[in-house]
Amino acid sequence: MRRLTSNRQGSTHGPEELGPIEAVATDRDKRMADTETHLHWHEPRCSESQTLRAALVLATILAMLAFGTLASAQSEVATGSVSDREEPLTRAQVLELLKEFPLIDGHNDVPWQYRIRVRNQIDRLPFDDTRAADPPMHTDLSRLANSGLGGQFWSIYVPTSVRGPAAVRDTFEQIDVMKRLISRHSDRLELALTAEDVRRIHAAGRLASLLGVEGGHSIDNSLGVLRQLYDAGARYMTLTHSANTDWADSATDDARHNGLTEFGRAVVREMNRLGMLVDLSHVSPRAMHDTLDTAQVPVIFSHSSAHTVTAHARNVPDDVLERLPDNGGVIMVTFVPEFVSETVRSRSKRLQLTRLRLARAHGSEQARPLIEDWISANPRPRATLSDVADHFDYIRDRIGIDYLGVGSDFDGISSTPDGLEDVADLPDLFVELSRRGYSKEDLAKIAGGNLLRALEAAQDYAERARQTPPAEVHIDNVGATGSREP
Ligand SMILES: [Zn+2]
Repeated sequence: MRRLTSNRQGSTHGPEELGPIEAVATDRDKRMADTETHLHWHEPRCSESQTLRAALVLATILAMLAFGTLASAQSEVATGSVSDREEPLTRAQVLELLKEFPLIDGHNDVPWQYRIRVRNQIDRLPFDDTRAADPPMHTDLSRLANSGLGGQFWSIYVPTSVRGPAAVRDTFEQIDVMKRLISRHSDRLELALTAEDVRRIHAAGRLASLLGVEGGHSIDNSLGVLRQLYDAGARYMTLTHSANTDWADSATDDARHNGLTEFGRAVVREMNRLGMLVDLSHVSPRAMHDTLDTAQVPVIFSHSSAHTVTAHARNVPDDVLERLPDNGGVIMVTFVPEFVSETVRSRSKRLQLTRLRLARAHGSEQARPLIEDWISANPRPRATLSDVADHFDYIRDRIGIDYLGVGSDFDGISSTPDGLEDVADLPDLFVELSRRGYSKEDLAKIAGGNLLRALEAAQDYAERARQTPPAEVHIDNVGATGSREP
């Protein structure tokens, strides 16, 4: 997600991930609009595993009663099964908990803000306090101090309009600007390359700063560039952004490869070998499945929510969610209003269609005031913190607590849900989840426990794969159709 500072009407316009609003509608636009407005909702089904879980909870409670430990708060934390007996945590208590268990956010676009606002001249945008910036940012050191954040994946992003060697250059410039920001504020931030780094840096009271590359176009079809990104510190790469790469389909583009090409699979295998997490936010469901078929280690969704709750193409469908327990991966629920609120999503969709219709009928210039009228008559509804919590509920009920994380997308979005306005509001999400009955153990898993487990699994696999030589596959040898060279 990108916030475009040039777009001063950010609050009334959809985020970039909805796709640029083109003056001329294609058949695909109409098709997408159709499917998106007529998606069916499915009630979460009570699966056998849920029944089994319920039985296990009951058995645990009975066993605890037998041993007379039900009153012990420690046992409650240890089992996480009697959370309804716990008082909901206050914000202060959440912050205490997050001192012990680091909260790791999967996606924050501060580096992109530095690029578009000040051409990466960090002196021109002091990170101590960005509230007075125009428009204000969601992240700065003063608010991070009050956020409970222990680890942050900073997004290394360049637009998909930039391709080829220029994309590689810009990607390394984004790594550079984040590293300069980290060393400028080394008392508060430190680069983290491993799960162990995250724990150590967090324990020292600094923010563990991880780098995640958002979009496979950043490697310019080169496994050599991929390896150099890893060496530069990148610990995840999202396979696509909003447009297809030459080897993977995006969720918001016309399918070109029916998922991953053979080279795409080689990218996934090489990422596994290196110990770089594969991020499936932004990719098409078919590419998600292809990756899950190929990956040897857990995947992540650095900033996505549940498609059944909010029918946005960027969200994760149930048949993919249901594969996470086998894979061990983590979906880091995002706050993007269009992704968490069906009301916001459908209104944005209607706006998009209205724009296309009016532009076609009147030309883009003449259509402008008519579109403004439509926006005045149909103000953008607000998503809320409660909408975000609903996605946690849904995913937990569907696949369990062990595959959930947080992926805010702060500073990548032009508007935020009410109650989650900036990084300092992150603890309030945990207050809400606690109020909904999540135990401390549950909250610790969501905060960062699950993500660290996935990162450690990726590291362990890379350690075991150290004897495997780097892949020397070229995209023109394996072909877009998946056929291998003879
Ligand atoms: Zn994004």
